[in-house]
Amino acid sequence: MKRIGVLTSGGDAQGMNAALRAVVRAGLDRGAEVYAIYEGYQGLVKGGDAILPINWNAVGGILQMGGTAIGTARSAEFRTREGRVRAVANLIKNGIDGLVVIGGDGSLTGADTMRSEWSSILQELLDTGRISHAEFDKYPYLAIAGLVGSIDNDMWGTDITIGADSALHRITYAVDCISSTAASHQRAFVVEVMGRNSGYLALMSALATGADWAFIPESPPDVDNWEEKMCEVLKAGRRAGRRDSIVIVAEGAIDRNGNPIETEYVRQVLQDRLHEDVRTTILGHVQRGGAPSAYDRNMSTLVGVAAVDELLNATADSMPQLIGMKGNRVMRLPLMECVEKTHEINAAIKERNFTEAMDLRGRNYKESFQILRTLVRALPHDPKPGQRRLTLAVMTASAPSPGMNTAVRAAVRLGLDRGHHLLGVSNSFLGLINDDMRPFKWMDVDHWASMGGSELGTNRHVPSGKDFYAIARTIEERQIDGLLIIGGWAGYQSALHLLRERENFPAFQIPIICLPATINNNLPGSELSVGADTALNNIVDAVNKIKQSAVASRRCFVVEVMGKYCGYLALMSMLATGAERAYLHEEGVTLKDLYHDVKLLNTGFEHGKRLGVMIRNERAHPLYTTQFMSNLFEAEGGDLYEVRTSVLGHLQQGGDPSPFDRILATRYAYRCINFLEEEALAMKDNVACIGIQGSAYHVTPLEEIVRRYDVKYERAKEQWWMDLRPTAQMLAQPGPQYYHENGEKMW
Ligand code: ADP
Repeated sequence: MKRIGVLTSGGDAQGMNAALRAVVRAGLDRGAEVYAIYEGYQGLVKGGDAILPINWNAVGGILQMGGTAIGTARSAEFRTREGRVRAVANLIKNGIDGLVVIGGDGSLTGADTMRSEWSSILQELLDTGRISHAEFDKYPYLAIAGLVGSIDNDMWGTDITIGADSALHRITYAVDCISSTAASHQRAFVVEVMGRNSGYLALMSALATGADWAFIPESPPDVDNWEEKMCEVLKAGRRAGRRDSIVIVAEGAIDRNGNPIETEYVRQVLQDRLHEDVRTTILGHVQRGGAPSAYDRNMSTLVGVAAVDELLNATADSMPQLIGMKGNRVMRLPLMECVEKTHEINAAIKERNFTEAMDLRGRNYKESFQILRTLVRALPHDPKPGQRRLTLAVMTASAPSPGMNTAVRAAVRLGLDRGHHLLGVSNSFLGLINDDMRPFKWMDVDHWASMGGSELGTNRHVPSGKDFYAIARTIEERQIDGLLIIGGWAGYQSALHLLRERENFPAFQIPIICLPATINNNLPGSELSVGADTALNNIVDAVNKIKQSAVASRRCFVVEVMGKYCGYLALMSMLATGAERAYLHEEGVTLKDLYHDVKLLNTGFEHGKRLGVMIRNERAHPLYTTQFMSNLFEAEGGDLYEVRTSVLGHLQQGGDPSPFDRILATRYAYRCINFLEEEALAMKDNVACIGIQGSAYHVTPLEEIVRRYDVKYERAKEQWWMDLRPTAQMLAQPGPQYYHENGEKMW
């Protein structure tokens, strides 16, 4: 039997617990034994009771907790060979030859150093009689899988690290709060965020909150007198109507000569030159704290499971792998290459080789910085002489989805900055039908980055019959060259109608692009739609509160979530909350399922279980309704537990968009404006939608999307997230107390 060790090391990060839980449960599920190593490398060097077997139930109830349940520490001893010799001896004494390390680049470097010394250390241990010949032969190599726990998102090779999304939640919340007080007093604020060598948090929080300026280590201001430039932009912003100014500074921000740009200095500069009240907020450890976001829980869970599979498939020749994310997919990369490249970035910053630092950070990062530089402008660039200025119309369609306003803001500013005219269409297609629209000015969208709902107004009206005449007239009279539709299926469908009516209405021969924005995440062509992450966070928060409400009694909740026929929210919230069950329309619900679940609940509560959560998609079954299930469990549970239902309803659609949705909306909007501009300037008229598919962004023709849509059940025919079903099910399995001693299941 394989024996796996798991440790968390270095700075803690929200989501480490989710990863730990996944490693332990996936390990046990795959038939391995799992040992927790407490307090990082310190525990590994110490041995004894710092290395103990860990069971299924020990990682129950930790998913929603920040920090790490097995402790983390910095270990000076492990940096020495003698420390690592003791660490190896402890691994061997415990029979561990596979290690999952959850930590930052320091921790992962340490792991690799120990691995590379493995043979020589083994020899030393044999020669000094600390291990036997049998042990020497039994453990010829150490398999390693690294998961990056770092709120800074500073690791080369993976798009995101454990904790970064939660840290962004803390920052965007704080900056949103600061914005409203700053605007009331017409004040400027300087906000310092974490990131010594990585500007990720500063850059992304500036994008997400609509801040006015950001300083990041990898790309300092390109002039020496940046103070003047910054103040000019902020003053111009004020002249254009901004009531507040927010400057975000990464803790490692430097100028182009390598001198630190300190928060206090920025404050002084603003105070002296803007002659206004300037305050600073240093967010500090708040960014590391609190419950992990839904994304961090799920991402950390998936990489945790992948890390176990990596170890179980490892051979003597396997190199340590880093398990991270590329777009929307888990991927593995040689760990040492990632660490080395990360060190190269740090070195490039130190040597003031900023072009190289940005190149190493990758395309997405550079692109985001470029987008930010446009969005923070006080006014757009003047149009280039002789350039063709397009008129692009923007609308939101279908049900409101958090992040719609963020997308409109980004599209409007990016379009205006390129010299085009942007029209804001009111109330979806009704605005096109009734010619209800207005030209956007730069400052019209000033605070839209953080606003939920849709400022333009949105509805599900799909044009038909006479509508087409009216729309054609509006397009002709307004000379609209391209149309951006931000929304769900009603928007896609409307675009398709315009496409199909082209023979009758030549006015429709303009490029149209759809930007997926629906909390249901049911659209083909895009694995993630804007709004779904916010909805998921809303559900996760609600379930947390529901769970806490039940501390004093034994209770089972049947929680109904939205999604129409699409089970995305149900399954992903099951994964993120550790619920025991998700009922999906895709799978149907049978009497046998319910019988099984009753037995599971009853056995659980008989054995001391205090809480059960069953998540039901709103349309999982037409007859086995939420109330029906609740009644069934209530009747069958007898005195064992009480049952309550909770229909979460519209709270899922509301609220400020999550940072993830804001960033996604911005990136999608950027690609949509690129698409419309390229098409219109080339006199082309394709109709398409944007979306992330696997690890990359794709533009897919709408005709293709239609073929991939299940009209009856209003969802994509193939849904990528159904592949996560077995993992969600595996992690939610009841623990070993549900097995008889002979290994048979109790139900
Ligand atoms: P992080 O993992 O968050 O980057 P640190 O850099 O503090 O945090 O590393 C955590 C621990 O990993 C250190 O206390 C040390 O025990 C170990 N470690 C870091 N760098 C090395 C190294 N080069 N060689 C051996 N061990 C290291």
